[in-house]
Amino acid sequence: MATILEISQLGHPVLRRTAQPIANSQAPGIQDLIDDLIATVTSANGVGIAAPQVNVDQRLFIIASRPNLRYPHAPVMEPTAMINPRITTHVGEVVKDWEGCLSIPGTRGLVPRYRMVEVEYVDRQGRQQTQVLTDFVARIFQHEHDHLDGIVFLDRLESTRDIITEQEYQRQVVQQL
Ligand code: ZN
Repeated sequence: MATILEISQLGHPVLRRTAQPIANSQAPGIQDLIDDLIATVTSANGVGIAAPQVNVDQRLFIIASRPNLRYPHAPVMEPTAMINPRITTHVGEVVKDWEGCLSIPGTRGLVPRYRMVEVEYVDRQGRQQTQVLTDFVARIFQHEHDHLDGIVFLDRLESTRDIITEQEYQRQVVQQL
């Protein structure tokens, strides 16, 4: 039975640390953590969550894109655990779009990211995976990968003028789409 975990909020030191590589993806503690992270991100209407966001200092995150109250236009994909993830290649084009973060509630920012990234990770069965990600899913990957290096989306903004509240985001952005 999965547990919904408490989400660390901006200011908690774990969000500023570099997370540690996972030696054994099949360890029961890692498999339980994956189940708990999926339950936690689903209950919080997130599209991704990284282990440091639940105060675990390990290189693991979940991408769980699907339409929900916080991201009504997200594409649907099965929740996917990515262990020891790496960006191996990126295509030059950088695009700005809105992001939020479960560790920074009530805030949205217009964040520049690569539109396309080639990535590697170990899946929860222990298999090495290589994938090319584009657009929204590429954005989630880059956001979650940053969490493993102690970086939050606010650090990536070009200007503090690119920050708006969740209420304004819902009014200006979601309702216009
Ligand atoms: Zn985040």
